[in-house]
Amino acid sequence: MAINILIVDDSAVMRAMILKSLRMTGLDIGETYQAGNGQEGLEALNDNWVDMVIVDINMPVMNGEEMIGQMRENPATADIPIVVISTEGSEARLERLREKGAAFIHKPFTPETIRDTMRTMLHLEEND
Ligand SMILES: [Mg+2]
Repeated sequence: MAINILIVDDSAVMRAMILKSLRMTGLDIGETYQAGNGQEGLEALNDNWVDMVIVDINMPVMNGEEMIGQMRENPATADIPIVVISTEGSEARLERLREKGAAFIHKPFTPETIRDTMRTMLHLEEND
């Protein structure tokens, strides 16, 4: 089944890199949506069904941590798997994100890292 994904990052270049990497994973990527900050990300989730959200931490208007917090408080989005892709180094913040069930990928990343993380998060088999 195709995997629909929302990519939230304030850098259009980074969103394009993530999208390209997703296409290189060999996984069945379905619809992809993009947002430039957490607020736009939440609005995109209101309008579209996704299987997974990839979110940056440092963004204007609403950062990734606040977006994730609001997703987890809303029953409609509480169970959507979240992968954080960031340069963030603060262990305290990463621990808070892990407590909310988010996986973490450090920038820079490879398509293999994204693929392996997605397999774990989405419980995919080796040949999916
Ligand atoms: Mg950013």
